[in-house]
Amino acid sequence: MNVQNSRLLEQEIRELIIPAQKVAHVQVGNSLEHALLVLTKSGYSVIPVLDLQDRIHGLISTNMIFNSMLGLQGLEYEKLDGRKVEDIMNTKVPRLKESDNFLRALELSINNPFLCIENQDNKFVGILTRRSILALVYRQFRNEKNVQ
Ligand code: AMP
Repeated sequence: MNVQNSRLLEQEIRELIIPAQKVAHVQVGNSLEHALLVLTKSGYSVIPVLDLQDRIHGLISTNMIFNSMLGLQGLEYEKLDGRKVEDIMNTKVPRLKESDNFLRALELSINNPFLCIENQDNKFVGILTRRSILALVYRQFRNEKNVQ
């Protein structure tokens, strides 16, 4: 492997992170109806669930919410009544530390469209998308091709 590639793989992921302030999210305790509104408004199909201390608890998606609404009559809106995001969220969250390196992010992104990033105090600092990882890999290959 050439020096450039090994540098890329060891590089910290910090600079690729979409910061927490720009990430659409819901909070533990929010209703499923509220989550559906945030998901619809944001245009994303999956978003993180955080607590008031900025810790990550899970991921919630439109698919999970629609699934929870399924009844004999098709989608039954009343099924959302009184239910909260923590009742149905996925607690298996792909996560990394902001000090982790690019190789680890590349590996996790194979099976996940985005990764949640935490600092050393386990607070959510943002997300890393497969798109930004692939864009960096593409730039690297393109630059290499251009210098050949
Ligand atoms: P993208 O690569 O931009 O399509 O993003 C991949 C996935 O990451 C999206 O489907 C969302 O689940 C999540 N995502 C990306 N950007 C945001 C954001 N600003 N807020 C919340 N979730 C996001």
